[in-house]
Amino acid sequence: METTPKKEEFDMFCYQCSQTAKGIGCTVNGICGKEPTVARLQDNLIFTIKGISAHLYHAKELGYNDSEADRFLSDALYSTLTNVNFDANDFVNLAVEAGKINIKAMKLLKKAHIETYGEPEPTKVRTGTVKGHGIIITGHSLKALEELLKQTEGTGINVYTHSEMLPAHGYPGLKKYKSLVGNLGKSWFDQRQIFLKYQAAILGTSNCVLIPNEEYRERMFTKGIARLPCVEHINGYNYAPLIEKAKSLPELDEEKDKITLTTGFSKSVVLSLGDKIKNLIEKGKIRHFFLVGGCDSPLKKMEYYREFVEQLPKDTIVLTLGCGKYRFNDLNLGDIEGVPRLIDLGQCNDAIVAIEIAEALADMFKININKLPLTLVISWTEQKAVAILWSLLALGVKGIYLGPIVPAWVNNDILKVLKDKYDIKIINKPQEDIKNILKN
Ligand code: SF4
Ligand code: SF4
Repeated sequence: METTPKKEEFDMFCYQCSQTAKGIGCTVNGICGKEPTVARLQDNLIFTIKGISAHLYHAKELGYNDSEADRFLSDALYSTLTNVNFDANDFVNLAVEAGKINIKAMKLLKKAHIETYGEPEPTKVRTGTVKGHGIIITGHSLKALEELLKQTEGTGINVYTHSEMLPAHGYPGLKKYKSLVGNLGKSWFDQRQIFLKYQAAILGTSNCVLIPNEEYRERMFTKGIARLPCVEHINGYNYAPLIEKAKSLPELDEEKDKITLTTGFSKSVVLSLGDKIKNLIEKGKIRHFFLVGGCDSPLKKMEYYREFVEQLPKDTIVLTLGCGKYRFNDLNLGDIEGVPRLIDLGQCNDAIVAIEIAEALADMFKININKLPLTLVISWTEQKAVAILWSLLALGVKGIYLGPIVPAWVNNDILKVLKDKYDIKIINKPQEDIKNILKN
């Protein structure tokens, strides 16, 4: 598998000012003198900012704000304006700074979720349908889900989560609603099949929504940040049109679960097993932890993640989060003396839970986080994952395996920094990677 970016067809692309080459775009060097690596690092910073913004947005939905993060976002964006900053090293430092701010943003969002809905608890989730009218809700906004559950309670309408909404089932303040009955489908890119298959009304609450097929467009609604062409947008939280639509559709038939999913492992739940985990590690019964997760994507190379988990020896434990988990969360990995071998920590923003668990385990063993028997095997698709990657690098986490592809804006200069300074590895073959990780 290729581990270095191929020679670019163009070294950079910038068309943000009137000097732009041939009135089209600077693709070799900036007319202003901006070098390709600086242009790419500016793009990297902007992508990281997008990820942070998503986390802050959902925290704000629940009334939680962070003025330092807001200030950082405007300062960092300003640094990418024409003729402000031409210093590649400074853009690496800014990316690290952005990673730190993203940690604050993820912590804020987690605090908002826990203070509003309680700390998640392990919960089995059905994956079939219940006879009756249904609404499928996708995206990341727990606030949008809560309001929907309030308004559907007692109406006979069943609410199903999709993709990144699955972890909602673990929150006491959400699972208490009887109308929350299950989860349909897997990660974001199966929308067109799942939404076509189930004649339910649909609500998209954030990324990752897809432009709908005509067949289900008139059953779909968006709210919050999400917008789709020719799809009705709900301002505020009056879901009457969505509920009316659900009632007007035929009832869904009863469909048995093909698999049962378990979600809702919080930091407290995992750390309540801390002494047991320590004991099992010392006895050699737990050899290694893997954090395998992040974003899913339809790329063929994503098959790596299922193969990776399938091939792990039985004395290893997999923590997971984000929609990348759907690549393998149907596998029954069993447990090691009561410690589950597959632990779903939640949405992609719950990377903060994984970080806090790793920090607590490092404290327990009185070692540096990089000395833990823990390897991160991350998949990325969009810019929240970029922000999370920079958060991990800002914490000094080394040796991360990254896939499914090298980000397209990373040239050889940037990859060299990532490899030399952070020991980033690009995923190769599952068996070889496992062998290399476990030999250390
Ligand atoms: S800012 Fe520089 S690189 Fe970008 S379009 Fe203007 S001259 Fe070209
Ligand atoms: S984990 Fe990433 S790809 Fe998946 S739904 Fe969330 S933001 Fe989208």
